[in-house]
Amino acid sequence: MSYVFEPRDVISVPVAGSTERFPVNNLYCVGRNYADHAIEMGADPDREAPFFFMKPAYAVLSDDAEMNYPSHSSDVHHEVELVVALHHGGTNISVDEAMSLVYAYGVGVDMTRRDLQAEAKQKSRPWEAGKTFRHAAPCAALHKLSELGQLNEASITLRINGETRQTGDVNQMIWKVPEIISRLSELFVLQPGDMIYTGTPAGVGPVLPGDQITAHIAGLSELAFKVSSS
Ligand code: MN
Repeated sequence: MSYVFEPRDVISVPVAGSTERFPVNNLYCVGRNYADHAIEMGADPDREAPFFFMKPAYAVLSDDAEMNYPSHSSDVHHEVELVVALHHGGTNISVDEAMSLVYAYGVGVDMTRRDLQAEAKQKSRPWEAGKTFRHAAPCAALHKLSELGQLNEASITLRINGETRQTGDVNQMIWKVPEIISRLSELFVLQPGDMIYTGTPAGVGPVLPGDQITAHIAGLSELAFKVSSS
């Protein structure tokens, strides 16, 4: 068999303490999953059903590479998030069996063209222009669940040029990881290689060309990258 053109290379992220890499399939993201962030975005944080959006695999930025500042925006925001990496898929997964799909956790940032997202919200249009661009999904090395155990409590922090901008704890998530996986599997066909960005605590704000971004979740590898001009 041959293809009409050469398929693209597999997009992957490193696995901490291993020479193996995790091949990335789809990126799912959870909206407004921390009450204090829902409030700062003008929403009611009462426990409504989680909602989702997606980014393509090509949005992933790994291995501490530089992030290119995207086109058509002058207000690109950081959202530090716990990333859940799946090595099994399925549909209609129960909350009780959901963790069996999880391979690893990592630190990620859901980069957002906030000006384009705000315009989309105002006009009731889809969010892709706000949420999808090359390097819109930085992700650190993944840590296997088999070596970590469940991550029910862990501080989550983002700094710009050493100055703290976001702080919280993953235990503040409104929808927990097994609930998110179960709900996603009712809506979509989950597949090995899918990664879930699970929402951000308060403190989102702009990044600028030249900024050095560092993101931490206690117990996981740091995410570090620089924003370049284009
Ligand atoms: Mn987000």
